[in-house]
Amino acid sequence: MQCYDCFLESRASTVPVSPAIAAAACARCGAGVCGRHSHATYAPIPGSPASTGAPEARRITCDPCYQAETAAAGQT
Ligand SMILES: [Zn+2]
Ligand SMILES: [Zn+2]
Repeated sequence: MQCYDCFLESRASTVPVSPAIAAAACARCGAGVCGRHSHATYAPIPGSPASTGAPEARRITCDPCYQAETAAAGQT
């Protein structure tokens, strides 16, 4: 699978660029994302006992989903 954001960039570009191989899949939209376009966030799973030092879960999102989620969370 190739990175979807790279694919969009290569399609918009006049110079043919081959999209990067996807290193992960966006947890929200399911698109493949390369390292350059992926965002990893770490947060405890809701309901987990944070006081016991429970490990944080990793979540990978693509560029647009990451920006949409941070905007929705009011963290822009
Ligand atoms: Zn990419
Ligand atoms: Zn996404």
